[in-house]
Amino acid sequence: MKLAIIGTGYVGLVSGACFAEVGHTVICVDNDPAKVKVLTDGGIPIYEPGLEEMVKANVAAGRLRFTTSTEEGVQGSDVIFIAVPTPPLPDGSVDLSYIEKVAREIASAMTSYKIVVDKSTVPVKTGDKVSETIKRYCKAKVEFDVVSNPEFLREGFAVDDLMHPDRVVIGTKSLRPVNAMKQIYLPFNAPIVVTDINSAELIKHASNSFLALKISYINAISVICEATGANVQEVANGMGMDERIGRRFLDASLGFGGSCFPKDLSAFIKISEQVGYDFGLLKEVQKINTFQMDRFVKKISETLWVLKDKTIGVLGLAFKQNTDDVRMSPAIDLCLRLQKEGAILRVYDPKAMDKAKGVLKDVTFVEDMDSVPEGCDALVVATEWEQFKKLDLERCRGAMTHPIMFDGRNMFDPAEMEQLGFIYKSIGR
Ligand code: NAD
Repeated sequence: MKLAIIGTGYVGLVSGACFAEVGHTVICVDNDPAKVKVLTDGGIPIYEPGLEEMVKANVAAGRLRFTTSTEEGVQGSDVIFIAVPTPPLPDGSVDLSYIEKVAREIASAMTSYKIVVDKSTVPVKTGDKVSETIKRYCKAKVEFDVVSNPEFLREGFAVDDLMHPDRVVIGTKSLRPVNAMKQIYLPFNAPIVVTDINSAELIKHASNSFLALKISYINAISVICEATGANVQEVANGMGMDERIGRRFLDASLGFGGSCFPKDLSAFIKISEQVGYDFGLLKEVQKINTFQMDRFVKKISETLWVLKDKTIGVLGLAFKQNTDDVRMSPAIDLCLRLQKEGAILRVYDPKAMDKAKGVLKDVTFVEDMDSVPEGCDALVVATEWEQFKKLDLERCRGAMTHPIMFDGRNMFDPAEMEQLGFIYKSIGR
């Protein structure tokens, strides 16, 4: 099928590449000319495992191309996906101005029947607003359908998640777009949930809030573990073996971040408020998340006593492993907090250094992981990159002024670390 994706970011670019990979013809649109230039010149503006090869192969096969023109995308396609940002406003509600603008742009470019699919994460009832907007701004008065098709990919695993989704959600008011939507997703062999638009939109916010809740739950358990001498990983393993619970999202840490969970949680709390329900449970999820970071910073400052002029090495800047995304990264938050206390930072991330340079000032960006500990009073693990497990710990201990490690991701074994001569503090163990 002929598809357009408006917004060529983490969701749009990976979706575009995967749709092209299964045989559709895709035009990816972005209003950032610099991004489109990088892509048309054969580059990739984000890091996502497996993406570069897939984009290159599909561009070469003539199934994937890039433009800054929404009009070109809309007129050359049957189905138009919206994948633009839905950032939070200061009060926690969603800034829908990007969605509204794209709806207007699509409307004015439409000259024949189109299916307009919202892939961005939006509050329930946004589909109605998109419909009204398109109707209002479509001069050609052509027919169209609006579909909600929320995206569930995880950054760092996006290609795999898109190629093998757990489910595809299609929310629609009319039956007309269902066949086309099924045809688009047929090659992915995934269960398809066809429902109404409001339910589809809610499925996304309800899912992300539940996942955030699961993380905060185990983080709360980590507090009890620390107070009682239990080990949160043992507890999580034991809990996770129960099929009703499952082991995933039960890793205690310094808290969740990224461009989705914090904003989707705030949005869902706000949406609930607007319909007259105080979703106190989700407020607690946020509270636990903040508390977890506070506890971690406190652990560092209590151990080092005064942070001013202490040199601290930080491993990891991305909000999680396998991505270069630093939006709302707990690692960046931690760096800023340590800096505020006067600490001198030596930081490293395998993929997110360039993006971190935009938000972290007056820190030393160290080019290789093993050089980070040199002259450090303490080392902090802030992101769960697998490669950190290969840190040369003997060399690390020798290079540090004091062998103290704060592991915000529970990547090392406490007994081994102690044996190696480290003062080692992790989460919930
Ligand atoms: P992003 O910031 O990486 O990408 C959005 C892109 O849209 C940018 O490249 C921007 O230049 C472009 N854009 C903005 N306005 C435009 C316009 N008028 N016309 C054309 N392009 C425009 O954002 P993202 O992470 O891909 O997220 C997009 C949406 O998907 C959000 O609603 C997000 O909540 C949701 N989502 C994100 C993820 C994730 O892991 N990143 C997962 C699931 C859902």
